Amino acid sequence: IYDRFCEMAKQSEGVKVEFVPEAEDTVIKESCHVGVKKSGCHGFCEMGPLVRIEPYNYIYIKVKEEDCEEIFNETILHGRPVERLMYHKDGVVYRQQEEIPFYKKQTRLVLKNCGHIDAENINEYLAVGGYQALRKVLFTMEPSEVIQVISDSNLRGRGGGGFPTGYKWQQVARQAEKIRYVVCNGDEGDPGAFMDRSVMEGDPHKMLEGMIIAAYAVGAQEGYVYVRAEYPLAVSRLKTAIAQAEEAGFLGENILGSGFSFHIHINRGAGAFVCGEGSALTASIEGQRGMPRTKPPRTVEQGLFAKPTVLNNVETYANVSMIILNGADWYKSIGPEKSPGTKAFALTGSVKNTGLIEVPMGTKLREIVYDIGGGLKDDIPLKAVQIGGPSGGCLVTDDLEVSLDFDSLKSKGAMIGSGGLVVMDENTCLVEVARFFMNFTQNESCGKCVPCREGTKRMLEILERIVAGNGTLEDLDLLEELGQAITDTALCGLGKSAALPVLSTLKNFRQEYIEHVVDKR
Ligand code: SF4
Repeated sequence: IYDRFCEMAKQSEGVKVEFVPEAEDTVIKESCHVGVKKSGCHGFCEMGPLVRIEPYNYIYIKVKEEDCEEIFNETILHGRPVERLMYHKDGVVYRQQEEIPFYKKQTRLVLKNCGHIDAENINEYLAVGGYQALRKVLFTMEPSEVIQVISDSNLRGRGGGGFPTGYKWQQVARQAEKIRYVVCNGDEGDPGAFMDRSVMEGDPHKMLEGMIIAAYAVGAQEGYVYVRAEYPLAVSRLKTAIAQAEEAGFLGENILGSGFSFHIHINRGAGAFVCGEGSALTASIEGQRGMPRTKPPRTVEQGLFAKPTVLNNVETYANVSMIILNGADWYKSIGPEKSPGTKAFALTGSVKNTGLIEVPMGTKLREIVYDIGGGLKDDIPLKAVQIGGPSGGCLVTDDLEVSLDFDSLKSKGAMIGSGGLVVMDENTCLVEVARFFMNFTQNESCGKCVPCREGTKRMLEILERIVAGNGTLEDLDLLEELGQAITDTALCGLGKSAALPVLSTLKNFRQEYIEHVVDKR
């Protein structure tokens, strides 16, 4: 019997401390020992701390330290459910995690092991099929076959751009330069986004396995994980996972006796949002100031240390082992053919069930907000959903039937970004939201190019003027003009997308801007 916890948040550590002494000394019947295990994030943040009791598969929500004795006496010792700690909705008591509406509509593939295995124990990853994909590629596949499978699967980068992963790998593999690198972007800087963090904390080996397979495919010898310093638990889990993978022979020299060698290093970022951009990220790893550079050359030609580099994010790598084991056709059977697979989203804001979710690409916004999210808090009507954080755009009530995939969102002037979804109710001021995001991007602008450095500053000034009640109608035209100019001329993705929240709220909620101007006159 194992008890499982959502980690760290909401005093879950205290809940664990309560359980341990009793559990350690307990043997049920003759040979059944009780173990307490902490796991990564279950995703249902609103209801944490969560405790899961196996083999009954009961899940308890909002557990407090004072509940532990009852759980122990009733469930662990006698197998009886404590219904008051279970999820209730519309008179129904949900005993098992998979039955709860928040989980039922999800397809958890990348996050499958998060909340179920102990991330600090490689044996748990092995027990759920971990490193089988690596064995398969090392002993039954040529590197070119691996790239072909990933290309055939239509896996697209989950970091925001949606670039075809197999094509990226192929471009690195065909470079004349033989020193190559595989880099993982774990610099999840969007406010409100924590998808990659959950994978690194809850199932780090899945991401590492994807990186090792990528390295085999492109012939790389060294890899780097670039992870934000603000994620100390992720850094610690990754260090443990790398050490365990090396000890078990999945990483390092002559992996599993195959003759293939690959090493992974961890680099901690220092909190600059722009370091999520590929060339700034590689510059930062090299020890230089993290600033984007002009392209070409592209990262696949001259990336880290000016060598061909595969750069994907955490979620992208976490998909790789499943594709290798189950095949490209399996992967393409999930979601739209051109954007297959699943996508993890951080669902936050005015929604009843906040948390980390994973759904097939192409899932409708309505299903996420109402079926998984449970609708808006206090049943206040929906006003908008900000998708993709400060680089994304605003979806409105007319967009509830829009499919969340790379191509459908592009046609709406929005983008998935890394996967932040902030739900806003009718009482939210969209002008203030636009000002908030512009303030963020302006602070994070690295200052290298004039359109972004000066343009975001001017846009922020105008927005502050409007919010303070000193704006004019001409300011709205100026915002649009400046926003378009920055989008067209900024050097990197941060600048190119900086104006999106303003432009999309101006397009969808212009009247609200006008009221700010007119009302205060
Ligand atoms: Fe720096 Fe902004 Fe220019 Fe990007 S667009 S290089 S963040 S100043």
